[in-house]
Amino acid sequence: MSLQIVHFNEPVLRKKGEKIAVFDAALATLAAEMVETMHEAAGIGLAAQQVGRALQLCVVDLREVEAPFAWELDGAKPPLELFMPLAIANPHLTIARGAAETVEEEGCLSFPKIRGDVSRPHAITVKFQDERGVPHILKCDGMLARCIQHEADHLNGVLFIDRMDKKVRAEIDEKVKALAKETKAAKK
Ligand SMILES: [Zn+2]
Repeated sequence: MSLQIVHFNEPVLRKKGEKIAVFDAALATLAAEMVETMHEAAGIGLAAQQVGRALQLCVVDLREVEAPFAWELDGAKPPLELFMPLAIANPHLTIARGAAETVEEEGCLSFPKIRGDVSRPHAITVKFQDERGVPHILKCDGMLARCIQHEADHLNGVLFIDRMDKKVRAEIDEKVKALAKETKAAKK
């Protein structure tokens, strides 16, 4: 079953996610439904907040992404097909030592048709648990590092528009305001 994606400015998008403490069948089902929802929307990442749940859980799938990126999962380099789609619970991110910031255009499934440049560190290490509670360490860069940073922000109630520099943010301001209005009107 696919889930409904909430749009800006639903209050749940600003909520910090609760830590996942129980890795049961319900959590695995939620992760699977989030993957289905992300695929249907042709996205590469989706956070629990975006389906109305304030939890430390997101999913990513970069198998179709052409932009280059490197990764090392638990000290190995498995093919993407072996670990994606990937559910990430309770992520803890650290920026790779000496990693430069890079600027790329980002979009977000909670902001349809709105895109803008965001600067983020190029390489990170993320410690997390999968949907069964198994701990992992993923070192990555490029688009994968960017995607995980974008999703991890969601889990803390932070949105990509918050990360834009003032000029970029100002350029999309009208669209963002119109979206908030549309979201509010749809609730009535
Ligand atoms: Zn997003």
